[in-house]
Amino acid sequence: MKRIVVVGAGQAGALLVAKLRGLGFDGQITLVGAEPVPPYQRPPLSKAYLLGEMALERLFLRPESFYTEHDIDLRLGAKVTSIDPDARRLRLGAEVVEYDALALTTGSLARQLPVAMGGALRGVHVVRSLADVDAMAPEFRPGRRVIIVGGGYIGLEAAAVAAKKGLEVTVLEMAPRILQRVAAPETSAAIRALHEAHGVRILDSTGLERIEGEAAVTGVRLSEGTWLAADFVIAGIGILPATELAETAGLALDNGIRTDTQGRTSDPHIWAAGDCASFPWRGTRIRLESVQNAIDQAELVAANMLGAGKDYDPVPWFWSDQYDMKLQIAGLNTGYDRVVVRAGAARSHWYYAGEKFLAVDALNDPRAYMVGKRLLEQGRSPDPAAIADPASDLKALLRA
Ligand code: NAP
Repeated sequence: MKRIVVVGAGQAGALLVAKLRGLGFDGQITLVGAEPVPPYQRPPLSKAYLLGEMALERLFLRPESFYTEHDIDLRLGAKVTSIDPDARRLRLGAEVVEYDALALTTGSLARQLPVAMGGALRGVHVVRSLADVDAMAPEFRPGRRVIIVGGGYIGLEAAAVAAKKGLEVTVLEMAPRILQRVAAPETSAAIRALHEAHGVRILDSTGLERIEGEAAVTGVRLSEGTWLAADFVIAGIGILPATELAETAGLALDNGIRTDTQGRTSDPHIWAAGDCASFPWRGTRIRLESVQNAIDQAELVAANMLGAGKDYDPVPWFWSDQYDMKLQIAGLNTGYDRVVVRAGAARSHWYYAGEKFLAVDALNDPRAYMVGKRLLEQGRSPDPAAIADPASDLKALLRA
């Protein structure tokens, strides 16, 4: 194999090319990114960077010199417009580039509020890229009113930053509770209480009718008719896998770019990793929207592109920082039928399906997170009675 091209210079793409060199691949590597800046970390965008507590350079995964030193042809502000899988060629701007193996790490796109709902008015923002956050940061001034549409992690992390900066914050959540898609009612309630203690108003079961304003936002009309004045709006209404290029190349899609357990798409010379890829996992097919997945899957795909033949079987984990709360999650709670609450000095919520332990949400409780994650890695289900007893020794469960 002489030439590998990686399309998408986010966390997954950057890790993938570094890993290829780390594993000794000495052929040509091209990494293509649409944004004008070197690959950077996204998690701090809605936290420390938006708060103004993290410098731009610290966002970059590696200095730009890394790519030159490792003979990686980094093409920034560039776009691959089409792929011809049979000829193993792609179009990069005006250039036609040949490859022996190709990886798609195209990530995801923020869902936008429709133009007909006022989504294109000045002062409507999304939180996905560095440019998005740079555009909204000047809006974060004390006393201003922000309406955040969507009570997922993005919306809630932005709400925490806005509240800390002295803005008047309202979160609109269409579902009956915030974090409904990802967490149990117990976790939603704890996070809601935290926000309310910081003066954030959360309106559940509240849809947005439209954003109003002439050229710029002046307020929003809620679905039941109420009007709320606003200086700006942030939409945190989810992401969509970036599959357009894969689709035009004729690759199989299935809630993202469909891969096998090793990260190979329906074309034997094309691989995919990160937010854009769906893969078989424990009898089902999932797509994970997390930085951990971008890193681990990209590293595995790099090895598999070089013939390692390894299967991907992650224990997913996530985290979110809001105010002084660190929420850490291990596992996936899909299909849970009960939640065991462990409430002592710290709190954790343990998800079970019958006797099977699925996931844990740890709220400022790193020990519960660590023990839960280890148990999941070992495929073990702790006794719910021991979990519920805050006096029991969690670490003893690992020795049991
Ligand atoms: P998300 O988790 O899908 O949450 C979006 C929320 O907005 C959902 O609760 C959704 O409700 C609601 N919503 C959608 N349309 C709405 C509307 N028109 N009006 C009111 N509410 C509406 O997505 P996200 O928060 O935008 O985050 C994007 C991705 O980045 C996610 O995968 C997230 O996990 C990830 N992320 C992770 C972290 C972290 O791990 N710390 C931080 C930031 C982002 P329904 O569910 O009812 O549609």
